[in-house]
Amino acid sequence: MRHPQSHHTTAVHMPKVNTCGHPERKHVAKGMCCACYKSTWYAANPERAREQRRARYAANPERAREQDRARYAANPERINEQKRARYAANPELKREQDRAWREANRERAREQARVWYAANPERAREQARARYAANPEHAREQQRAWREANRERINEQKRARRAKKKAESKCK
Ligand SMILES: [Zn+2]
Repeated sequence: MRHPQSHHTTAVHMPKVNTCGHPERKHVAKGMCCACYKSTWYAANPERAREQRRARYAANPERAREQDRARYAANPERINEQKRARYAANPELKREQDRAWREANRERAREQARVWYAANPERAREQARARYAANPEHAREQQRAWREANRERINEQKRARRAKKKAESKCK
C-alpha cells in the first residue's frame, strides 16, 4: 500500500502559504492559519474536541470561561458562525447540550433568557408562536410548568395589578 502522503510529494516543496483566506497569518498546517486549522480539526474530531474542552474546564473553569470570553470578544462573528455550523451539523445534540446546561445553571439560564426576551420582544413572541404551532400540547405543558414554578411571581403581579386598579378607581 502506498503511503497516503506520497500523493503530495510535490506539495512538500511549495512555499507554505495559507489558502484559508488569512495569508497575513502564520502558516500552521495544511495551508491553514492556526484558527482555521483548529476549527477544521474540531469539526473533524467533535468527540475529542468536546473531551479536550471538558478537561480544560475541569482543570480551571474560571480561566477556561475567561478564554472563551476573550475569544468571543476578539471575533464574535466567527464564533457565531462556528456555533451556527455546529448547530446545522447536529441540531439534536446542540439542543441536548443546551438543555443540560440550563439544567446545571438554572439561575444563569433564567437571567440570560430574561435579558434576551427584554432585548428581542418581537422575536421572542415569534418563537413562542412557532413553538406552539409545532407542538401545541408540549407548549401548553411548558406553560403550565412555568406557571407552576413561578406561581409566587404571578400572584405578586396579579396583586400589583389589582392594587393599581383599585388605586385608579379611587381617584375617579
Ligand atoms: Zn485562516
